[in-house]
Amino acid sequence: MKLTCVSRELHPRHTFRISRGTRTEVRNVFVRLESDGIAGYGEASPNAFYDETWEGVTQKIEAARGFIEALDLQTVAGLEAAWGQLWELVAPSRAAQCALDVALWDWLARRRGVSVTELMWARKPEPVTTFCTIGLSSTEELATKMAEMRRFPRIKLKSDATASLRSLEYVRARATGLLAVDANCAWGAADLRALSQSLKKLGVTFIEQPYPPERDADLARARSVLPLMADESCLVEEDVPRVAPLYDGFNIKLVKCGGLTPARRMVLRGKVLKQTLMVGCMLESSALIAAGAVIAQRTSYADLDGAWLIGDDPFRGWQFADGILTPPAEPGLGVEPEAGLFEG
Ligand SMILES: [Mg+2]
Repeated sequence: MKLTCVSRELHPRHTFRISRGTRTEVRNVFVRLESDGIAGYGEASPNAFYDETWEGVTQKIEAARGFIEALDLQTVAGLEAAWGQLWELVAPSRAAQCALDVALWDWLARRRGVSVTELMWARKPEPVTTFCTIGLSSTEELATKMAEMRRFPRIKLKSDATASLRSLEYVRARATGLLAVDANCAWGAADLRALSQSLKKLGVTFIEQPYPPERDADLARARSVLPLMADESCLVEEDVPRVAPLYDGFNIKLVKCGGLTPARRMVLRGKVLKQTLMVGCMLESSALIAAGAVIAQRTSYADLDGAWLIGDDPFRGWQFADGILTPPAEPGLGVEPEAGLFEG
């Protein structure tokens, strides 16, 4: 397989703020694999919180070049085997692993003339209702965002250490859909019991990652009245049995776990453990969102707003309208890069 790897800066439409920082741009890494006249695409959104950089991811992908060029991929079992062999070359970069693994799934599905959803789950892809995220916002920013999101079916609000209810009350008064709150580990000092009671009165459905991972053991004592979802506490498939007794569910992200191959296994293990499953994303293009949408076919919730949040999406894929993603008809991930992306 011929491997092409490029990086590209992407810019959120609005400054994206969460409790641990502000993003005005990200530099994502894009992969194209080509063999027998068929191309497969993958992407990584390197996140400093997980010690990933675009340079590090690019280096690891280059370390796998020889393996990819010699790879003869025929079956899903072959994908599983390739994942294990790739990991020895790209560890510890889950993001590099993700970009290559997603591209391999896309390539194999296109080769078969089916969607990745059909290849993985033996069913046609259904539209995905996604959460759309409102980062930490000023009153003016909130007004602008709600003008666009009023009709959206699922809205997730970021929260910081102040655990202020101001934004939530503003959104609750204007939105009709389901609401969730993501603290990104910032509520270590908050009274989670009292806070969850207030959020429940405002109609919030669940709380994501209230405490930092090192405080997981304190969650039982905190007695939240709302379901808790793990994100920063559940990165890879080995985390699933540990978080299952502490949380009601977990948020699978392809860049955290290393692609579609382990994400599929996390879905299967989570279902056995009766966990509520969600698939999430970073700031990423329609290429990686399309891969997340494959996992969303088997999860209760999806948070796949990454391509909608950015203003310069270099891929075309699942169509976003008012918080619903509609699958493309083309095989594989059904995504196409803009002209020239892989020539730069
Ligand atoms: Mg989160």
